[in-house]
Amino acid sequence: MPKKETSHCSFCGRPIKGNEFLVNGINGVICEECSEAVGEILRDYRVQTGKRKKSELKFNLLKPIEIKERLDEYVIGQEEAKKVISVAVYNHYKRLLHAAQDNNDVELEKSNIMLVGETGTGKTLLAKTIARLLDVPFCIADATVFTEAGYVGEDVESILSRLLQAADYDVEKAERGIVFIDEVDKIARKGADNPSITRDVSGEGVQQAMLKLLEGTTVNVPPEGGRKHPEQKFIVVNTQNILFIASGAFNQMDKIIAERLNTNRIGYNQENRVLDKNNMMQYITAQDLKTFGLIPELCGRFPMITYLSSLDKEALKRILLEPKNALIKQYERLFVFDGIDLSFTEDAVDYIVDKTVALKLGARGLRSIMERIMTNAMYEFPSSGKKKIVIDKEYAAGQMGE
Ligand code: ADP
Repeated sequence: MPKKETSHCSFCGRPIKGNEFLVNGINGVICEECSEAVGEILRDYRVQTGKRKKSELKFNLLKPIEIKERLDEYVIGQEEAKKVISVAVYNHYKRLLHAAQDNNDVELEKSNIMLVGETGTGKTLLAKTIARLLDVPFCIADATVFTEAGYVGEDVESILSRLLQAADYDVEKAERGIVFIDEVDKIARKGADNPSITRDVSGEGVQQAMLKLLEGTTVNVPPEGGRKHPEQKFIVVNTQNILFIASGAFNQMDKIIAERLNTNRIGYNQENRVLDKNNMMQYITAQDLKTFGLIPELCGRFPMITYLSSLDKEALKRILLEPKNALIKQYERLFVFDGIDLSFTEDAVDYIVDKTVALKLGARGLRSIMERIMTNAMYEFPSSGKKKIVIDKEYAAGQMGE
């Protein structure tokens, strides 16, 4: 509570504003800004000197089937990917827990995961959802931030700095977090095996930089927002137990897979497998990633490879309606606050889906179409005095200018 008679901060001498937070002492007061600064300095000091309370090795370790069931609430379809990721994540954290409990130095084999699939199929959503379920820190990075300069460059530091931030500067917690690296296909080298794909030639050096991070290394991360004072030490983060989930669209990967499988079948006349030609991605292996232009060492760091299928109309419709935070549910909820019972007719939903398919942005397109259709509604309906509003195909098409 502010003391009325105090007009200046006893720490910095700044005049105190009327409604500002104050820490009152016997002989003075500390203003809001100073309190905040002291908190930050104290936190940095504790992190650097290891005095920060050790976080217990505790997270929601659900079993694979349970993880998959929880993922089902948010991610539609993508059954194979959800299964693979549930198992990989369970194994990863189980190893961590066991290693901690047995107190032995069992070498932890990483279960880093590679997600391959077109844009807007749910790769980021999957990784984000799993981190939330497990309640572990999570951050997203783009593979194109890696530079050939080497792993001590700003690239890796900034990724880990964000992970630290997500862990509220609890280093141990950050070291058990998940880093999602998007667009790994963009750093593939020019495919020698596949000259039809043109790639950045410098890709290999950049991949080496990313490899260092994955291999398990210690990185000196500058404290929040860079070093403010020369005496502020770096925070040392070990990447050994961080789970990496990489992702990429890998355009034309299906052709690479088809080629490999055909060569084998015809060339060596091996198993006479019947292949699902419409979904070649399901047969993806590390070999295909190599052919695409990833260096073998990098492929070796991703023992789990899985794919996400492109979303058909049926899947898009389900995405619009079913997940816990489905867009339609969100809009309906938004109008509840205005006392309006909003609903969408089936043909309006089908219309939205058709428009989304044309955008070719996967489920990502649903939001932009919905925004276009609902902008006027969100502007006008709250003042309309109506209690019930139905969005039909006609209304939707009208908003799209048709
Ligand atoms: P990607 O990382 O594959 O490019 P995202 O995960 O970022 O795609 O998906 C973009 C958005 O589309 C998500 O935030 C989510 O709302 C929606 N979405 C995509 N795929 C799915 C899915 N399989 N189930 C539910 N929602 C999805």
